[in-house]
Amino acid sequence: MTGRLNERCGIVTGAGSGIGAATARRLRQDGARVLTADMRGEVDLLLDVTARDAGKTLTEATMARFGRLDFVVPCAGVSAFCPLAGHSDDYFEQVMAVNVTAVFRLIRDAAPHLCASPAGRIVTIGSVASAFGDAGLVAYGTSKHAVLGMTRALAGELGPHGVTANCVMPGAIDTPMTAPAFAAMPEYRTHWERKAALGRLGRPEDIADVIAFLLSDDARFVTGQEWMVDGGAMTRM
Ligand code: NAD
Repeated sequence: MTGRLNERCGIVTGAGSGIGAATARRLRQDGARVLTADMRGEVDLLLDVTARDAGKTLTEATMARFGRLDFVVPCAGVSAFCPLAGHSDDYFEQVMAVNVTAVFRLIRDAAPHLCASPAGRIVTIGSVASAFGDAGLVAYGTSKHAVLGMTRALAGELGPHGVTANCVMPGAIDTPMTAPAFAAMPEYRTHWERKAALGRLGRPEDIADVIAFLLSDDARFVTGQEWMVDGGAMTRM
């Protein structure tokens, strides 16, 4: 398969479902060689990204399989609505462990290889909750603000090595993550459909296509940026 990511090699976590699965599919269509990981689903490596050595395991598996590592896309994430009173220490720490610490460890462990690549790329997955807040999202919003901050710092630190780092910030996307909330609160689904200027929820492919662009040569001079992909929802009052 040839395409604009021809022979680029990298890692997509959270690839067993939703945005990560759509991203792995799209990158392969573009000619990339992708090591997929998740705790469930049809992936190359079944693992818990919060394991202390997960970043090292993923990096070593990619080098062993492909001999190079050009990009990382850490899509594995957790989210649920939870009032502040329900934010136990364990809940807060688990959200931070998956959404922040695991992202950090993977990028840190992959960084030497990304720096050795002629076109190293990092695309993190933030959220509209990287820029705005809402009730029930204290832990999640904290984690997604952190991911955006991490991405900006990485852009500064790794830019001199030719590595770009960008943060894609989805709005409401129709995936297994949002399905329980939309099923329990149909009015919440309608709210997001109406709020989006484009009048619908996002699809995983809407996000995957932007990630593919950011990994491509077309985005070679773009780094440290936030890419809100929400159908225009957050542009409206
Ligand atoms: P999803 O639930 O469909 O997929 C997330 C995947 O992450 C799952 O397959 C899950 O098994 C995996 N995962 C979770 N914890 C893990 C762990 N400890 N180890 C390994 N894998 C783990 O959700 P999605 O909507 O595709 O979400 C992907 C990313 O997009 C997440 O970071 C999420 O926060 C972000 N996001 C989603 C939306 C949305 O509306 N769906 C909006 C903004 C941001």
